[in-house]
Amino acid sequence: MNSSPQQLIEGFKRFRERSLLGNDAQFQTLVELGQTPSTLVVACCDSRVDPALILDCAPGDLFVIRNVANLVPPSENQGNYHGTSAALEFGVRNLGVQHVIVLGHAQCGGIHALLEGGVPKGESFIAEWMGIAEAARKKIELEYTHADSKLRHRACEQQAILVSLANLMTFSWVRERVEQNRLTLHGWYFDIEKGELLGYNHASGSFEIL
Ligand SMILES: [Zn+2]
Repeated sequence: MNSSPQQLIEGFKRFRERSLLGNDAQFQTLVELGQTPSTLVVACCDSRVDPALILDCAPGDLFVIRNVANLVPPSENQGNYHGTSAALEFGVRNLGVQHVIVLGHAQCGGIHALLEGGVPKGESFIAEWMGIAEAARKKIELEYTHADSKLRHRACEQQAILVSLANLMTFSWVRERVEQNRLTLHGWYFDIEKGELLGYNHASGSFEIL
């Protein structure tokens, strides 16, 4: 794979030639005026699902939050560290993005841990974090009792996106903007096996090819 530190430094040098020194007007504008992305994406840490790459975006296009299984936690006021909520707040309140996309994907390791993990909460950061999607797990275990594991995982990956969309609405500054039509929430699913991008259709209640 192309990711040893030395290979990454060589990559930076190519990027520098192309974008920083190559009179890239768009990049220079971003440096001088700051970022104004219109879309925030919540994506998974998985190395295969980089939103900027798979959506063919340039620097400045997307405000990206990445965490295990692209989850949005519910709004909480406890004095803990909330990296995802803080980044969400910055994107929505400070940058004023108009769209939030929760971007799930096939073969998600976080969802696999949720369904098959067996590690008790309190003994793993991942198990604790994946508790956000517990409602998705319960629904899938009930509705997909006899389905094979691949189908259950896929259904849970998509159901967890819906949990995150619901959790987004627990943030008052998200809910207000959605109700005022200043912000739109989207649930997308990148099927890395079929090479397709699906979007949740609220009318049909299913994920459909975009
Ligand atoms: Zn994942």
